[in-house]
Amino acid sequence: MAKPRVAVHKFTSCDGCQLQFLTLEAELLTLADRVEIVHFWEASSDIGPGPYDVSFLEGSVSTEENLERVREIRAVSQVVIAIGACAAAGGIQALRNRHRHEDFLKAAYPQPEHIDSLPHSTAFSDHIRVDYALPGCPPDQGELKRVLADLLAGVRPRVPDESVCME
Ligand code: SF4
Repeated sequence: MAKPRVAVHKFTSCDGCQLQFLTLEAELLTLADRVEIVHFWEASSDIGPGPYDVSFLEGSVSTEENLERVREIRAVSQVVIAIGACAAAGGIQALRNRHRHEDFLKAAYPQPEHIDSLPHSTAFSDHIRVDYALPGCPPDQGELKRVLADLLAGVRPRVPDESVCME
């Protein structure tokens, strides 16, 4: 039987949520026997194409490229799980949402005309259907382990109630 294809996708983020995965060393070794990790940016620059059985999404949607890519990922993923506060609410980069985008660009970059970013940083659920979400900055490792175990057991992942099925 084919192993489930799992991907961890990075968007606008600090990589901290991916690091939470990477430090689950024992679980990842077990996982490696039971699933095919086709894409994990923090661990390898290889980009495995879809379809994916499970896609974890880290970060927020802050650029046009982010927006296009997350829609493509949704189209080829059975289950999408948003991980972390950035994924659920836009993250620290959403501070700009209440201010003029141009002012932030000028304050942060010497040549803001070369920066390609959207005026707002938004959650994935603002753009696509998200099946599950794990809150936290970064998410709790125990919750990540539980979600991985549930997925491998073929049952509905147990996530905090308030974060289930955002649409
Ligand atoms: Fe980093 Fe926190 Fe965002 Fe995860 S939720 S990418 S740890 S800032």
